[in-house]
Amino acid sequence: MPEYDRIAERMELLDASGIRKVFDLAAKMSDPINLSIGQPDFDVPAPVKAQAIAAIGRGQNKYTQTQGTPELLAALQKQCLREFGWPVDDAGRGFMVTSGVSGALLLAFQTLINPGDEVVFADPYFVMYSHLVHLCGGRCVPVDTYPDFRPDAQKIADAITDKTRMLIINSPANPTGCVYTEDELRDIADMARRRGLLVVSDEIYNLFCYDEPFVSIASMYENTLLMRGMSKSYAMTGWRLGWCTGPKKIIEKMTTLQQYTFVCAPSMAQAAGPTALETDMSQQVAAFARKREMVYDALGESFDLARPQGAFYAFVPAPGGDATAFAKKAIENNVLVIPGECFSTKNTHFRLAYTTNEEKLAQGLDILRSLA
Ligand code: PLP
Repeated sequence: MPEYDRIAERMELLDASGIRKVFDLAAKMSDPINLSIGQPDFDVPAPVKAQAIAAIGRGQNKYTQTQGTPELLAALQKQCLREFGWPVDDAGRGFMVTSGVSGALLLAFQTLINPGDEVVFADPYFVMYSHLVHLCGGRCVPVDTYPDFRPDAQKIADAITDKTRMLIINSPANPTGCVYTEDELRDIADMARRRGLLVVSDEIYNLFCYDEPFVSIASMYENTLLMRGMSKSYAMTGWRLGWCTGPKKIIEKMTTLQQYTFVCAPSMAQAAGPTALETDMSQQVAAFARKREMVYDALGESFDLARPQGAFYAFVPAPGGDATAFAKKAIENNVLVIPGECFSTKNTHFRLAYTTNEEKLAQGLDILRSLA
């Protein structure tokens, strides 16, 4: 007789233990200095909130079209016209609104990855990539980018086989804060073109670039599935709003799958989407630029930290080389950071998220320095 609580085998491929351990510890601490959270410490801009509230008041509480509301889709097309010069009536390009970039990643992977297919991405990487690839029966091919986390097109090319299904690019990057330069992206784009590769570009941190303006690989390579979201840019992590554009054939299949899974992104969040896209976030980004400087000033020399250029993370070499041991020591001293093994095949670094106020951040950095 089947057991009622028998879990499907694929779930054995998902392991949430690393980060969960840190959050379990955090829950027991009374007032921790929390440098582990991957979301902004500013709030959703007031006009964006007002739009969502008004939408609820107007009764926009029902399912929307699966691919997204016409208003938000038009705003996204307008943004791509402005940024990339893509004509709005390009018959080969599709657009869709998703439940965050997480939703777009799941739909894309389920749409594209057959069991045994290989997916190439930089190591360290955003933790969701490896789990979702495994869930689809795919094989992860991480490409080592230590110690400076720069991408090397030749190293990526060496990782490509006839089983490679896609290359994921994430710049600005979680967990390293690395921002790829135009030259680096061009080398990757040229290599991808030669190999006929699909590139998935996760640009969720595109607003958070502190040294050079953001460059998207989608501006140089047409076979790119571009994903962006409102979670980090406008602090809308709980609203579950993202979007994806790329080859029409792929977007259409992802939309079909969305119809039978997420159905649509939240209606009130979509109603506020166009306002979010028009909101100037330069002050919030400048505040993060200041905190990036604080982190680098405090840890750059003493921890031999590669200078992060974007997102809101630093990936810091752990003194002694054992990230779990150092993270444990930090937690015992009231500072929460995440050991690198949650984001990498190595465990030599820890991730620090500077998503807290400057006062707390300064206290946390002092404690980390004293531990080193
Ligand atoms: N991609 C990266 C690199 C992230 O760091 C995150 C969230 O931490 C996501 C995607 C998921 O974001 P969303 O809230 O849009 O699902």
